[in-house]
Amino acid sequence: MKSIDLTSLKLLAMRDARSAQAEGASQLLVCKNCIVTPSARDFLAQHNIALVTSGAAKAAAPAAYGQSPALPAASVSSGAQGRPAPNPRLFFTPEAEAIKKEICAVGRKLWMRQFVDGNGGNISYRIGPNEVICTPTLVSKYDLTPEDLSMVDLEGNQIAGTKPRTSEIFLHLEIYKEVPEAKSCVHCHPPHATAYAITGRVPPNLVIPEFEVFIGKVAISPYETPGTAAFAQTVLPFVKTHNTVLLANHGIICWADTVTHAEWFAEVLETYCWTLMLAAQLGVPISYISEQKGADLLAIKKKLGLPDIRFDTSRMKECQLSDLEVPGSIALTPSPCDGAPGRPAETDLEMLVRSVTDAVMETIGAK
Ligand SMILES: [Zn+2]
Repeated sequence: MKSIDLTSLKLLAMRDARSAQAEGASQLLVCKNCIVTPSARDFLAQHNIALVTSGAAKAAAPAAYGQSPALPAASVSSGAQGRPAPNPRLFFTPEAEAIKKEICAVGRKLWMRQFVDGNGGNISYRIGPNEVICTPTLVSKYDLTPEDLSMVDLEGNQIAGTKPRTSEIFLHLEIYKEVPEAKSCVHCHPPHATAYAITGRVPPNLVIPEFEVFIGKVAISPYETPGTAAFAQTVLPFVKTHNTVLLANHGIICWADTVTHAEWFAEVLETYCWTLMLAAQLGVPISYISEQKGADLLAIKKKLGLPDIRFDTSRMKECQLSDLEVPGSIALTPSPCDGAPGRPAETDLEMLVRSVTDAVMETIGAK
């Protein structure tokens, strides 16, 4: 075992992790208050390099994100209490092979629909009580093959697969820990839904039946730096009562019973947001489905076993289907823009009047 003393560092970044690995380290000694960046922590975990806090009695495996390496091993694993030890062999079962193919197919759909760019987006599936198959970091979702995928436990430690897991896996893991029904999560950046996310708005309800049934109320979680514990936890207040959350200034996350269904929800939300934007350009108000007919849709949704905050009747007393307040959200109907065909902007009108006047003057020979 080669141990390298890095107790002089206040911050351990990717550069330090790489050079330690190049030197063949299997253990890094760091000071109690040393901050380890998420990417460095991931890199060290991937290369089985342990982080040991100066003065700690024994080496602990690299802790999951957001947990200080100074914590004793018992505290580090406290989140895993009651969970069985992860079983890496699950990664090679026929069920896992089928899931891997489904994840690759869904990855390709996300890319083809322009829901992801570069290496953006990530997909996961909870195959066991403490085992989650997920996409790797730095691979386009179009190019995914089953060999690219990896498996982590619910604390984010990689237990199978050769490529490093996505750094955004913790967002998915928080959902799996909070929602027992969630079997798959899809995170992506579809442009029209993300347009809502960057304006801090959620789309209005009671406009299109399919959206009411499959998604309904969308929540919006506050912005945090991707890959951090704080980011992963932003969705926690919403995921029990919503299957789709807009991530402020980032994108969306959907969960479902299968990988394919989680991707469907991304499609339904994106098309809904897009349609609302197109409707806004028509310059006339949207027609809404009545509250009464909306209740029929909610009943269909309940039969399908999908979550909806509007099932909470205690919150329905003072609110209606269409305007129930979701913590952290601002529900606004997109307003028609000035340049829309139905309502020309003032500058457009001025130009139109001028060109008509010019044409008339020319015809009567005044020019
Ligand atoms: Zn993202």
